[in-house]
Amino acid sequence: MKLKLTLLFTVAFFLMVACEPEEGADKILLNGTIITMDENQPEAEAIAIRDNRILAVGDEATVSGYETENTEVIDLNGQFATPGLMEGHGHFTGIGNAGLQLDLLNVGSWQEIVDMVEEAVEEAEDGELIRGRGWHQDDWDTAPQRQIGDLPHHEKLSAVSPDNPVVLTHASGHMSFANEYAINMAGVDADSPDPDGGEIVKDEQGNPAGPFRQTAQGLLSDVNDLWDPDFDEVVEKATLEAASNGITTVQDAGTSMDDIERLTELAGNAEIDVRLWVMARDNNENLSDGLPHFAGEIENNPYFTVGGIKKAIDGALGTHGAWKLEPYEDNPESTGFNTTPLDEIIEAGELALEHDLQLGVHAIGDRGNRETLDIYEDLFNEHGVADEDLRWRIEHAQHLHPDDIPRFEELDVVASMQAVHATSDGPWVLRRLGEERAEEGAYVWRTLLDQGTVIVNGTDAPVERINPLASLHASITREMDDGEYFFPEQTKTREEALRSYTLDAAYAIFMEDELGSLTEGKLADITVFDQNLMEVSEDEFKDAEVTYTIVGGDVIYRR
Ligand SMILES: [Zn+2]
Repeated sequence: MKLKLTLLFTVAFFLMVACEPEEGADKILLNGTIITMDENQPEAEAIAIRDNRILAVGDEATVSGYETENTEVIDLNGQFATPGLMEGHGHFTGIGNAGLQLDLLNVGSWQEIVDMVEEAVEEAEDGELIRGRGWHQDDWDTAPQRQIGDLPHHEKLSAVSPDNPVVLTHASGHMSFANEYAINMAGVDADSPDPDGGEIVKDEQGNPAGPFRQTAQGLLSDVNDLWDPDFDEVVEKATLEAASNGITTVQDAGTSMDDIERLTELAGNAEIDVRLWVMARDNNENLSDGLPHFAGEIENNPYFTVGGIKKAIDGALGTHGAWKLEPYEDNPESTGFNTTPLDEIIEAGELALEHDLQLGVHAIGDRGNRETLDIYEDLFNEHGVADEDLRWRIEHAQHLHPDDIPRFEELDVVASMQAVHATSDGPWVLRRLGEERAEEGAYVWRTLLDQGTVIVNGTDAPVERINPLASLHASITREMDDGEYFFPEQTKTREEALRSYTLDAAYAIFMEDELGSLTEGKLADITVFDQNLMEVSEDEFKDAEVTYTIVGGDVIYRR
């Protein structure tokens, strides 16, 4: 609806302008503390907006000149405005889906999770799938009664859910926990072999214990197919979650071609208020069939862009799934998993070059990162595009071998690093990597920035909540929840942190001419907080609240 209305208004506006030459603003924000991220004018007091773009930025007197009787004036009362914040790596439908499941983020014990499922079972029909997401074994104060390694056995969970399949996704998204009903429904038993790139965790008797690591999660697909929430509701949840957190653009880290089709339709009808820039994530056959079609459709919609292809070379550090050069400190048998065959990633890279898209490869372990950089380098050389402006990305880039750190700058690879992962993971990273590897290469955004690498920030929502303040705070402090600091020599300045959510985030998707700074002519995306993020103390930083989220001049959230 909104687009049609906007069009009507635009037509009406031009008719008006035709009779009345005066160049008025639709909206003016006055009396603000505005950080523009534009080096020609870093600070301002007021912004005028016409249609969906910035008409003027500057001091109050200049901007007020654009006020007419039709201008809506918003008094910011000294509040702090920034260019609209961009989530650099989120999972849009994942955020919406998570909002419809049991929220297990930061739940303090396995028993509490079992109790939550028990309550959900009481509300559910027999056979109905119960889903939850966000649990992490390192969040638990007390160990589960029965454990396999550091993971629980399904026994207690199955006891409270005898007539319902239950699937609980790990916070990382790289492991699922199934109850007995779900395991049986999936046809998995003691004889089931581990798939390539994954593991069915088994107990002392050799029976499935509940956790399905990495690609083994695919075995639960029949169970997960029972989950079929209304797509519009998923999108609505995700949009609200983003808007209420001050996010104006979500860089989506992987959506199937089917969901891209559904999103394109909604975006075409202007039913998604935030901007979406999407990496297509699918098998290469679906990608090569689907991408040409979407490349044409999305070109001129500033609310929806298919801009990249996503692949994952490895798993997550928390689940011992990240692909390492040397074994895990706390699991000397394992160097993690390569979760997508390298040939498939290379082929996806060729598709990206063919369709003028960026490639974003999820790489967490030092081996995963090295192999990805090798693939990029080889492809650039083979196709003679090493000097072109491609801005391929590595998603997470969490653990790097020191030799590979300079290669980001050399290959012009954007590091897509979610700062809040460093402080959430910090308490157990040393256990996985040991002191030396952690210090040299874990979440080393300071080192990367100093070498000239562009970093885009984010939260990986729903892995973490989509709250930019958590990642900005982690960026500038590296302070963990327990009050300790995770290698604080790697912090960013406040300005660098904000850039990684605005101008550098826009660069990471080739949108720096349209977004990322409050500059005359750019799209009018603005986030307003009740605290000055350049000055508020580190202790109070995360208590700041979003008061306005503005996309293309429309207020899409107001506290
Ligand atoms: Zn992700």
